[in-house]
Amino acid sequence: MDLFEYQGKQLFAAGGIPVARSWMIHPQGPDALEVADSLGLPLVVKAQALTGGRGKAGGVRVARTRDELTRDVAEIMAMTIRGKQVVGVLLEEAIDFQRELYLALAVDRAAKRPLLLFSVRGGVDIEGVARDEPQALMRRHIDPLNGLQDAQIAELVDWAGFSGGLATQFAELVRDLWQLFCAHDATLVEINPLCVCGERLLALDAKITLDGNATFRHPEWSAYETNADERELRAAQAGINYVSLDGDIGVLGNGAGMVMSTLDLIAEAGGGAANFLDVGGGAREARIAAALDLILADQRVRALCVTIFGGITRCDEVAHALVNVLGAKGASVAGLPVVVRLDGTGAAEGRRIVAEAGLPGVQAAETVWQAVQATVAAAAGSAARPDADDGAPAGPGKV
Ligand code: GDP
Ligand code: MN
Repeated sequence: MDLFEYQGKQLFAAGGIPVARSWMIHPQGPDALEVADSLGLPLVVKAQALTGGRGKAGGVRVARTRDELTRDVAEIMAMTIRGKQVVGVLLEEAIDFQRELYLALAVDRAAKRPLLLFSVRGGVDIEGVARDEPQALMRRHIDPLNGLQDAQIAELVDWAGFSGGLATQFAELVRDLWQLFCAHDATLVEINPLCVCGERLLALDAKITLDGNATFRHPEWSAYETNADERELRAAQAGINYVSLDGDIGVLGNGAGMVMSTLDLIAEAGGGAANFLDVGGGAREARIAAALDLILADQRVRALCVTIFGGITRCDEVAHALVNVLGAKGASVAGLPVVVRLDGTGAAEGRRIVAEAGLPGVQAAETVWQAVQATVAAAAGSAARPDADDGAPAGPGKV
């Protein structure tokens, strides 16, 4: 789960990471001019949206006068940045800085370790630095049992070129950030830019991703519920396991293992899954209808792969539910290729039900691999669906 910058900065302030004074303005919140009265001008007006690149998109502006402030707040409040809604603006005292650094802690899943990232070339173009000059980005793994080591901090201070008071502050900040990363079960904590303002260090941006698997031990996270991807929230309410992904093939299966294997096979066949969706056991039509709604609400979906293994759940019952739901949806699935793979209890009967329903674009397959290949081929030949309800692209890639 991603936090807004203002929420991240609240955690920073509580964790000893220095931040500038700021004030959050929600659409119905206090007037920006009142904030100007107490914090003074100029103020930096920052869009609060769950995406990076706000600066480049015009979502971060410096307001020097009261008129500019009123105008900037109104304009930024109405923006959508990279498909993400702006939920409010953060007004922050404008800081003059000499240097912009980049500092982050992430979970490196491949290495199964936390990863410390640092660069003296922070600011809005860190992606360009990472791409074109990877040597300018320091990467150090942290032993999960022993934690961040003093020697690693010393190396970092050295890279940054700090001495004296700044060196001490920076070392402390890195330690605090590591503490924060662990204590909050984060998978990403990123400061870009971390600014050097005279003899002070300040985190001018905050990007924090929390590990959803740790929700059970963080009752305080309920305050962040509204941050969740809207479709994921709807799924949770319907009791469906759903995760948005980047591709264009909708996936519906029963059992997490089944769905994950299907995602792997889709990648193997050269396709990209649009989602992970596990409807669980049983064949309740309401559940399948809710699952299809979730998948179809994603405009990028060009084909749908349904894969069910019948055990206690009978394939013929699932087939009935599926045919009823797809039939009832009619227009909203028209033109969308659907491949249904049924195996296990009642499979033959289920396939017969799908075939006899004769729904346009719906075909039955016997194995997951056949279903996946047919879906990938169908997606490649299928047009984008202009009538779907929203076009929100997936968020930035998660480490
Ligand atoms: P992002 O583009 O979404 O990462 O948004 P940031 O919060 O990082 O802001 C983008 C850029 O705006 C930063 O890299 C800074 O250069 C600049 N910026 C942000 N806050 C301030 C500030 O208080 N003073 C000044 N002068 N620049 C700022
Ligand atoms: Mn930033």
